[in-house]
Amino acid sequence: MPTAAEYPPPELSVVVPIYNERDNVAPLHEALTYALAALGLPYEIVLVDDGSRDGTRDVLRSLGAVDPHLRVILFRRNYGQTAAMAAGFQIARGRTIVSMDGDLQNDPADIGRLVQKLDEGFDVVCGWRRHRQDRVATRLLPSKIANLLIARVTGARIHDTGCSLKAYRSWVVRSLHLYSDMHRFLAALGVGLGARITEVPVRHHPRRAGKSKYGLGRIFRVLADLVGIKMLIQFAAHPIRWFLLLSLPLFVLAPMMFMLGFVKVTREQQWLLFGDYDMAAVAAGSVALLFGVNVFLLGFLAELQIKVSKFFRQRISVTAQEASR
Ligand code: UDP
Ligand code: MG
Repeated sequence: MPTAAEYPPPELSVVVPIYNERDNVAPLHEALTYALAALGLPYEIVLVDDGSRDGTRDVLRSLGAVDPHLRVILFRRNYGQTAAMAAGFQIARGRTIVSMDGDLQNDPADIGRLVQKLDEGFDVVCGWRRHRQDRVATRLLPSKIANLLIARVTGARIHDTGCSLKAYRSWVVRSLHLYSDMHRFLAALGVGLGARITEVPVRHHPRRAGKSKYGLGRIFRVLADLVGIKMLIQFAAHPIRWFLLLSLPLFVLAPMMFMLGFVKVTREQQWLLFGDYDMAAVAAGSVALLFGVNVFLLGFLAELQIKVSKFFRQRISVTAQEASR
């Protein structure tokens, strides 16, 4: 029997990261197969095991042995959901790529609607879990705040950036360099690439088997990544401008402090240069100056870094090689 990779490229690839989901993978595979067969498009399912240690891998191996649509990647250890998704995106061959969670909280039956929406002329279609089945205090509330913040900072005006169920034109995921926990920002990164983006409501089910892999620690990671994303989207082209902007207040502050320190105004309104030094003000001025110079030089280094780095260089994505005349 030919393996999935030997078949002609499919139209649709579904990429799923999986970590310790032993009791979910077989039902997931079944639900996916059912939903995708109904779409009538040539498809492949890419399941990426992120170093599971609960027997998930055995289930995946046996599923892979019987289903030619299924491609399985097994990581040697747990690298995280983003890495798993990135590996799946890398080998996915479809013109359309769908990502989703492997715990059956997303519903494969929604894939059809996402793909249909894509065909209306979008590059990314995000699932929106309108009736989310998670705990209010630890999940829903932080997520609501995070979504508002992310929409504001990144300009991706969608309701639910955290929903893994999304459909993309393949060029979008191929143009991305994912690291850290960036899978939560795929929509924003897409906007940065100039992708046309929209959302459709999708179902969401409570987790029936296995455990969630994230606790409150994700709040910190999301905040840190948000800063990184903002930088990637906006600062990547010309870091030195932003560093200069940062150092500007320091360059204004320094001479003011020096004035305070060195100049004494007498009762007769005469300015005496080097009257009595005010050491505190002079010190503050020096610190501000040194700090400003440092920040500016950091910008210089960042600018050089961009020039030589392939990852941070601004990527220009074009829709056609030649504009029509
Ligand atoms: N996952 C992964 N590697 C990890 C953590 C999670 O591949 O290190 C997978 C997990 O198996 C699931 C998806 O990513 O398919 C989302 O994880 P989870 O359901 O725990 O997140 P939640 O729904 O609680 O946000
Ligand atoms: Mg989940």
